[in-house]
Amino acid sequence: MKPLSLYIHVPFCVQKCAYCDFASWPGRERQWRQYFDALMTEIRHWSVITDFGRLSGQYCVQTAFIGGGTPTAVDAGYIKEIIDQSRFLTTFADDAEITLEGNPGTLTPEKLATYKRAGVTRLSLGAQSFDDGLLRSLGRIHTAEQIGEAVRMARDAGFSNINLDLMYGLPGQTMAQWADTLEQAVALGVQHISAYSLIVEEGTPMADRVQRGEAVLPDDETVNAMQRACIDVLSKADFGRYEISNYAKPGFQCRHNLVYWNRGDYLGLGCAAHSLMQEHRFHNADTLEEYLSGGRMLDMERLTARDRVEETVMLSTRTTRGLDLGRFYANYGLRFPAMPELDGLIEIQGGFLRLTTRGLEVQNAVVLKLLEVLEK
Ligand code: SF4
Repeated sequence: MKPLSLYIHVPFCVQKCAYCDFASWPGRERQWRQYFDALMTEIRHWSVITDFGRLSGQYCVQTAFIGGGTPTAVDAGYIKEIIDQSRFLTTFADDAEITLEGNPGTLTPEKLATYKRAGVTRLSLGAQSFDDGLLRSLGRIHTAEQIGEAVRMARDAGFSNINLDLMYGLPGQTMAQWADTLEQAVALGVQHISAYSLIVEEGTPMADRVQRGEAVLPDDETVNAMQRACIDVLSKADFGRYEISNYAKPGFQCRHNLVYWNRGDYLGLGCAAHSLMQEHRFHNADTLEEYLSGGRMLDMERLTARDRVEETVMLSTRTTRGLDLGRFYANYGLRFPAMPELDGLIEIQGGFLRLTTRGLEVQNAVVLKLLEVLEK
């Protein structure tokens, strides 16, 4: 059976954060039932014959990721239902990784017990910061204290694979606040940390504040210094950096995200979910209404050889493992010439081309250069 990953999107939140442009909406409780029914229908569709075969019998689910939105904002019974249904209609590997994304302000021991019974193996909590002032300015619904409570509750419920998402480069954030956030995250004893630099997305309240001059973003140098502080603090605490923004204790890398970076097959279910199946990309409708009216498998595109080359270079060089040069040549018949202009930004070792710490800071520019060199 072919390996497959499932992404299931839950587009509901308690309130909209100031920086968020994800497909997520607060205050839609009356649509929860309808939405989960639509998800069940979508899974049933995939379990019978489709253009890509049948989920049941032909694919084995290695990882599943229930993201959002805030999947922990809805009744836990819905999450159990969708996992039960997915397991019933497809084949899951015995050691499948099943991640549930959540917000520390929405967890209870009862919900956590239900997730555990449903087979969730990994929790990914949006912590963002341990500074209450910054959390308020981001529009988060939880306090720093609630992050600690959520991790402790999760551990008491039997979860031993927990990620915290953190953000740096926030308006008004000092290096001391960022260092404190990192220290507090480490002190909670979690196994995985994702640290993202804030990207101000157009159309969000945060973008308006920045435009009006009410929020001032740190300069690039400060943001890079924050990233270096992150690498430093986390490496001392035994977290290995395995992707630009991701750090894990040994044995706790997120297998699901590795599938994205390695371009494995994944099927996205739910509103705004994206898929890569047998070198075809497609996605579901971005709005709840369109999804509920049947907006699925849109903009289906068969990737050309050039698309695959570009994606492979772009995604693999995000990881610290890097690009497998032997496999790259076997798949595409391409080799990289000597590139003295990239000295200090890339290194080639043991058959892998990987970006140095400095190279990862300017990954987009390095990827463009690598692709340019390949074209010659
Ligand atoms: S909790 Fe996450 S998905 Fe929901 S609004 Fe905030 S950032 Fe967006």
